[in-house]
Amino acid sequence: MTEKRVAFVTGASRGIGAAIARRLAKDGLHVVAVARSADKLNAIVDEIKAEGGSAETATVDIADFKALADAIEKVTEAHGRLDVLVNNAGITKDGLLLRMDDEDWDSVIDTNLKSAFVAIRAAARPMMRIKGAVGGRIINISSVAGVAGNAGQANYSASKAGLIGLTKTVAKELAGKNITCNAIAPGFITTDMTDVLPEQIKEGVKNFVPLKRFGQPHEIAAAVAFLASPDASYVTGQVICVDGGMVM
Ligand code: NAP
Repeated sequence: MTEKRVAFVTGASRGIGAAIARRLAKDGLHVVAVARSADKLNAIVDEIKAEGGSAETATVDIADFKALADAIEKVTEAHGRLDVLVNNAGITKDGLLLRMDDEDWDSVIDTNLKSAFVAIRAAARPMMRIKGAVGGRIINISSVAGVAGNAGQANYSASKAGLIGLTKTVAKELAGKNITCNAIAPGFITTDMTDVLPEQIKEGVKNFVPLKRFGQPHEIAAAVAFLASPDASYVTGQVICVDGGMVM
């Protein structure tokens, strides 16, 4: 059995997920970095190893639910344990409700929400078998759009609000098994996902954020690191907004 705690992090090829992978590895966990782009994953894992951390890649499309569940099973078999699951991978397909087609609704719900359900279902049993004081930790990356809604993001906001309902339910169902489940709701974080927005919108958002700046991926990773750590042993079912004060 692998001695280090093992973390399965989806969407780890760039942005927030890559920052989470780096941080958890730095904190001493073995990280399984998951995404579709093998090259980018390899680069992140090489970087982690160069800094003395432990990591491996798993090239998986999380919207292929069988492949996702199989990947979790494979990791559990290889390491004899699974301690932390971070459901971070997510996509946007924005558009006003009246113009949003079914395909854009379904693909965002599948990638952002159903994948988390599938991953949690696959991870729950191995987490129940964890021996030791620090039990299983499930961390879902939601969004302020899931807390407050956002015009033009009916599919995305619904997926992220769904993650919050899933988080609270999982927290209640698995508390007796020493597994915690929490959500983080990032505000506006500088990544590829937000780089595509027009400058005018970015400036508008910046003015609206009480701290008057965008967040950085490592600031989300820090919250994940806390929730994955022994220090967060009494925290479950919570939604932590890491958003510069956007939603309060
Ligand atoms: P990003 O830069 O676009 O990265 C998205 C990550 O998800 C990539 O690693 C991507 O990897 C992976 N991914 C997407 N679809 C996938 C699929 N079908 N299978 C496997 N991996 C997939 O996004 P980000 O800004 O880091 O966002 C990370 C999470 O934070 C998302 O859930 C997002 O909704 C949430 N969030 C972000 C912000 C923000 O301001 N940036 C705010 C609130 C919430 P591949 O393309 O290689 O598969």
